[in-house]
Amino acid sequence: MSQIVNSSEWENRWKTIDNVMQSMLDDFAKINEDEKKIWQTTLESSIKCLKNFGEKQFKFFCEGFRDNWLVTSQKYSAEYALRRTIDQISFDLSVLQRAHAQRLSSTSTDQARDALDRADRLAYKALEPAMAEYLNEETGDTIQFLQKTAIITYFQKSTAVRVVPYGPIAIIGIPFSCIDSKKNPQDYLAVAHEVGHYVFWHARVNDTPLHVVLRSEMAEDPAWRFGWLEEIFADVYGCLVAGPLIARDFQDLMYDNLDLYDDDGLHPIAVLRPWIYSETLRQIGEFDISQGALDSRWAKLLIHRVKAETFTPKNPVANEPTVTLENARSLLQETIMQILARLQPLLPNFKASIWSKETDAFNKEQIDKLYDTFKIKTLDRIKKEKIGNAPEAVDRQPVKAINPNNPEVGEVNLPVFRAVDGTVPEPVPDDNTIYWRVGATKDPWLDFYRGVSDNNIKLSPAIWSTLLNDTGWAVGGPEGDGNPLGG
Ligand SMILES: [Zn+2]
Repeated sequence: MSQIVNSSEWENRWKTIDNVMQSMLDDFAKINEDEKKIWQTTLESSIKCLKNFGEKQFKFFCEGFRDNWLVTSQKYSAEYALRRTIDQISFDLSVLQRAHAQRLSSTSTDQARDALDRADRLAYKALEPAMAEYLNEETGDTIQFLQKTAIITYFQKSTAVRVVPYGPIAIIGIPFSCIDSKKNPQDYLAVAHEVGHYVFWHARVNDTPLHVVLRSEMAEDPAWRFGWLEEIFADVYGCLVAGPLIARDFQDLMYDNLDLYDDDGLHPIAVLRPWIYSETLRQIGEFDISQGALDSRWAKLLIHRVKAETFTPKNPVANEPTVTLENARSLLQETIMQILARLQPLLPNFKASIWSKETDAFNKEQIDKLYDTFKIKTLDRIKKEKIGNAPEAVDRQPVKAINPNNPEVGEVNLPVFRAVDGTVPEPVPDDNTIYWRVGATKDPWLDFYRGVSDNNIKLSPAIWSTLLNDTGWAVGGPEGDGNPLGG
């Protein structure tokens, strides 16, 4: 007997969502291939991959509970898995729909489309240091930390990333205030932190996912720090990409929090996050002057807020209901050093393309200068008029190599993401296309578990709930109310 109370209702839900995706694909198919813009091909390919992956995931659970090779428990019902799957597909679809509508000339302004194009390139620039190849000195092998990745940005309430398992695509939400990049350049900076979340889930150390390596290297005690690992990584990564300016920006982002000592179990408490940025600068031995200026700016801001020397962790250690900030800082420092050790071979790349420079103060004049530099040397230079050109015509250039002698890296050549149904073509060295087979997943064990129906194996709730929740597919809504997610 099926373990699903009402299968046909769930199947109808899936079919309806599937039809929405199909009609979007039908619209894309009407556009002449040669006239498609980079974002159109990238979005079309993403929807193709979501549709295929969503179907496999939905069927895996639906058939598994129907034919009883997935086992439910009192805690984990079949409906829990189906609801979560339908939600994940719907959240991704809603984000891709927004990204689409926000780029159509009929539903958006030139300025808004320009901002999204800029954000795509900025996010790609933030990923570039992790995508560069480096030499493993022990084995002599060339290693790519992160495979080449396409970008889709869209406007929403605040900056956040959606991590998806069905293709090398980073889907990043940016705030609407980015539309005016001259007035609000600071609102682009958090993109560097969000890209850090993507790298956390998708980079590999030899053949092991980075998040697995970092977790295995970290003591599970205290639990509160273990729960913060992903966010600490994203902060360190963002700091390496954007330098003192993002460190200063995060002070402002934290300052507007209601409670600077509140632990949500995922993010380091707000009062400590600016310190993660200045400590990262200290650990890499750069920006000696900024470090001090940043710390004193944060200390000055804190004079106006409630002050405490301890906080209450959401996940406390037995007999230790509160933790001193001093203790927390020393454990955070350990984690920052552990993360930097893993990023060590890439540090020259970060250094070569960093978005901001040393400064001796964070007064208004200095800040205006830093933002001007960021606007002129980063936000404006990455922009290259390609809209309206066919991808074939504009993508025949290699990704610009990072030259450590020329830190002012210029334009960003955004890659196009092309999902194909059959065999993936051999990559052409001077082409900037990311080919991907529709149906391929980034995590091979997803496919492994999907094969169990053929082998008469039963999967316990512990196993299938891991498959549902811990593969890097965001389970919360796009506004940042779930995990794993940015924000
Ligand atoms: Zn985050």
